[in-house]
Amino acid sequence: MAKKRWISETLFEPNGFRMSYEVERVLYEQQTKHQHLVLFEHKLFGKILMLDGATQVTTRDEFIYHEMMSHVPILAHGKARNVLIIGGGDCGIAEEVLKHKAVKHLTQVEIDASVIAFSKEHFPEFTKPVFRDKRFESVIDDGMKFVAQTDRRFDVIIVDSTDPQGPGAVLFTKEFYAACKRAMAPGGVMVTQNGVPFLQPDELVTSIGYFKSLYADAACYVAAIPTYVGGQMAMGWAAKDKKLRQHTARTIAARYRKAGSFKTRYWTPDVHVAAFALPRFIAEHVSKAKRK
Ligand code: SAM
Repeated sequence: MAKKRWISETLFEPNGFRMSYEVERVLYEQQTKHQHLVLFEHKLFGKILMLDGATQVTTRDEFIYHEMMSHVPILAHGKARNVLIIGGGDCGIAEEVLKHKAVKHLTQVEIDASVIAFSKEHFPEFTKPVFRDKRFESVIDDGMKFVAQTDRRFDVIIVDSTDPQGPGAVLFTKEFYAACKRAMAPGGVMVTQNGVPFLQPDELVTSIGYFKSLYADAACYVAAIPTYVGGQMAMGWAAKDKKLRQHTARTIAARYRKAGSFKTRYWTPDVHVAAFALPRFIAEHVSKAKRK
């Protein structure tokens, strides 16, 4: 029997660290205009999408990241009507955002049409409900360009980007965060995919430092996603209103009931609040950034 192919997460190669997956079947592989894209089946994690050697989404644990990147900012905001996703090509976050019936319009700005095209074929569980929903608008563009030019204002901005390499690098710059602030409505909030602090501390410190210079509230919250290797993942938090992060689980629970108490598998009102309680080493990264 032919030896099986192994595909490695190469994001941490500079640290002398690789994690590899034994491939059951490659479903799609392409060097797109922007990045290397491979989608394959794995016996434990289901379908796995990797872009430029970094794990993006697996069907086994996607619910953790997608729920935490959508329900936390929307329920903390409390009156989100216009939501913007930068990146998000697999549409997993869009699917969660659209569970909030009070959201009137969701715009997703994805740079690589290929990611959406094959997600329609291979992640129909995300893309079908999303593209059927009249509130959803898909824009193919560089997120940096979009937020710099748009005259629209968004209550919640979700930066579901790749890591700071290739086309994703620009989404970790002060210019980008400043442009998001311009495109954010009063009282708005932005959350960002901000890596795994145990392996990527500088990325978090830099982002929080920029947030601190631009927004009223700069923080992060955490969740452990098995295939984002290296421990808890940090989601950056940049808000125009400090109160958004201070709601009690009771308030969040009441908002969740009003939103229809849709099914979740990771997020709960208590997990929402607890996610902002940071392990000391991560809290130290955040306060170091704030001293900058
Ligand atoms: N959940 C994943 C993670 O945490 O790494 C991210 C998922 S999603 C697949 C990331 C998306 O960001 C990709 O589809 C990629 O094409 C898109 N992207 C990268 N740079 C971008 C940019 N400058 N503007 C818009 N989308 C971008």
